[in-house]
Amino acid sequence: MRPARALIDLEALRHNYRLAREISGAKALAVIKADAYGHGATRCAQALAAEADGFAVACIEEALELRYAGIRQPILLLEGFFEESELSLIDQHQLWCVVRDAWQVEAIERARLGRPLRVWLKVDSGMHRVGLHPAEYRDAHARLLASGKVDRVVLMSHFSRADEPDSPRSAEQLALFNEARGDLQAEVSLRNSPAILGWPGLFKDQQASDWVRPGIMLYGATPFEQDQEQAARLRPVMTLESKIISVRELPAGEPVGYGARFVAERPTRVGVVAMGYADGYPRHAETGTPVMVDGHASRLIGRVSMDMLTVDLTDLPGAGLGSRVELWGRNVSASAVAYGCGSIPYQLFCNVKRVPRLYSGA
Ligand SMILES: *Cc1c(COP(=O)(O)O)cnc(C)c1O
Repeated sequence: MRPARALIDLEALRHNYRLAREISGAKALAVIKADAYGHGATRCAQALAAEADGFAVACIEEALELRYAGIRQPILLLEGFFEESELSLIDQHQLWCVVRDAWQVEAIERARLGRPLRVWLKVDSGMHRVGLHPAEYRDAHARLLASGKVDRVVLMSHFSRADEPDSPRSAEQLALFNEARGDLQAEVSLRNSPAILGWPGLFKDQQASDWVRPGIMLYGATPFEQDQEQAARLRPVMTLESKIISVRELPAGEPVGYGARFVAERPTRVGVVAMGYADGYPRHAETGTPVMVDGHASRLIGRVSMDMLTVDLTDLPGAGLGSRVELWGRNVSASAVAYGCGSIPYQLFCNVKRVPRLYSGA
């Protein structure tokens, strides 16, 4: 069998969830959209079910998958409904629903529901992607409550630059949120992972009833490009690994792989690893990207191909056929691999496919 696989440590997932709660002092919706950032949404939800305050996904398709797997906790649809007709399923499965545009308010006013709906009303505080205009916010809030279709409204917004420690944008967005909110008394949800980890001072006045929405930090990857004190406490959940399936000795001057992107400067021992961009390893990773071979640091050399990549074994005489290679995980930081090739750990995780996922710590 091909030795490529993703090991998923569910104990680490729970550790990171508890950390999100501890650092924020708030309730936490575990964000498990996009198949839990490639980690397997159902397995991750089951692992957190006993302690999570709730889950968040992108759309109803993702939520129903969790309901059908027996997840009974609250599930928030982060983009609400895309079509009005989804409201009956939202009602039937008791899903929580973001309202981010005026037409969604109108759809709720028209809806025939068996039970009152829990709404998270989103205001655009400067991300300028979705969310109600600040000037429309309180009116939408009043209309939802007056509709008789809604039992409670959580006030919500989203940060655009919380991963930049020196940006004034998060404070500006918070001020705009507070202005839009005015004197509305309700639960509040503003923070994604970088805001939880990086901006404790901004939220000194929060209430214990507030909600945070940790995503990437649950999976143990830092959203910051630079070292960050709280992010250092995270534990990586996914270890992407494979094995050396072939070894060759090249004299100086010989190239390796497509496009001869690496040329041996000295006699070089090359290990071929069963892992490629079809598994989700980034094709743009450069020579020098860190890997670990049998517990020793080494580096990627040459271009990543679809099913294989090559690593430098020259200084690792003990390594050879069958040696275990970690592409990222406990020892090799997924964030370092990502930032090294112009990507982000979010995208690396979401791209993982073809490799079987093996779970521990259930
Ligand atoms: C994806 C998402 C999150 C989680 O973001 P992270 O940076 O992964 O923590 C939080 N809130 C909303 C609205 C999202 O779409």
